[in-house]
Amino acid sequence: MSRLKKFLLGTALALVLLVGVGLAMIHRSGAWFLLFPSRHHDTTPPELPADFGAGKSLRVLVFSKTNSFRHEDGIAGARRALDAIAERRGWALFHSENGALFSAPGLARFDVVVFSNASGDMLSDEQDRAFEAWLTAGGGWLGIHSAGDLSHAEWTWYRENLIGGNFIGHILGPQTQTARVIVEDRAHPVTQGLPAEFEHEEEWYSWDASPRTLGFHVLLTVDESSYDPAIRIFGSETSIRMGDHPVAWWRCVGSGRALYATMGHWARAYENVPYATLLENAVAWTGDRGACAPGASKDGAASGASATGTEPAPALGAPPPPMAGPAGEAAAAAAAEARGRASAAATAAATAED
Ligand SMILES: [Zn+2]
Repeated sequence: MSRLKKFLLGTALALVLLVGVGLAMIHRSGAWFLLFPSRHHDTTPPELPADFGAGKSLRVLVFSKTNSFRHEDGIAGARRALDAIAERRGWALFHSENGALFSAPGLARFDVVVFSNASGDMLSDEQDRAFEAWLTAGGGWLGIHSAGDLSHAEWTWYRENLIGGNFIGHILGPQTQTARVIVEDRAHPVTQGLPAEFEHEEEWYSWDASPRTLGFHVLLTVDESSYDPAIRIFGSETSIRMGDHPVAWWRCVGSGRALYATMGHWARAYENVPYATLLENAVAWTGDRGACAPGASKDGAASGASATGTEPAPALGAPPPPMAGPAGEAAAAAAAEARGRASAAATAAATAED
């Protein structure tokens, strides 16, 4: 073999190795589907045990399908925490990443659906409609962390009714910080057993508007003076300060109950006792078959202006620039390219996803 051939072969091998290592790192970071989002929709549901839920007080589907960013660690942490809670409370839990469960007969097997860091366009339009009908008719839903990111942008009903504001990014540089969480509504069933405030280490999310202004009921806020709400990357700095900064909120959706909690990036988030308590209470409360009462306090009295189960749908604005567009990840990647100072993966991770 000539020296030139050897050189070319060596260079080609080095390139293949470099690309391979790069792709492996992207995959390992959970960002694979952030860069190459999947639109795979399942058509065949998994088999549930025939006696699923028999003798149990609550039947819970923990759904963690990720067609966009995958929080491997957070999903595993939530699974451990929820399994332990279910064991203690006598709940039946079914973990799945199969969207074909989202049909009328499929969802009828559950009282609560938890979106545990579920991301992306996970469900077909038909499955979206089945979930909307099930929830509105009295189902319960708990969304955790990236269940609220912009990867769900194409599902307008979901964003408007369950999430509220548009996700504009999470802190970066550092990616997680310990901050003070304030329990704002101490009378609500979901905050029972929580201290008035607690410390929590998190990849804090920010929104273009406080869900409070959109008619959601705020349970917890994070004190922005206790951490630095900024995205720092490659020498640039963007403030994602909100002022009023809720981190857990709920609303009635027809007869159903919906609660979204922004925390849960790392597995250790679920080991923080106050947050685990909040999630336990949230599953119990969303699974309560009593009519959802806006403004309901511990004794169930409705203090809200609207009648039980008839909360007006929030008027949600269009996703703000640079996130405008059908898919946040693509828009953020384009913005990153325009700024020419960050890789698509790094910026998209901070401003569109996870
Ligand atoms: Zn995250």
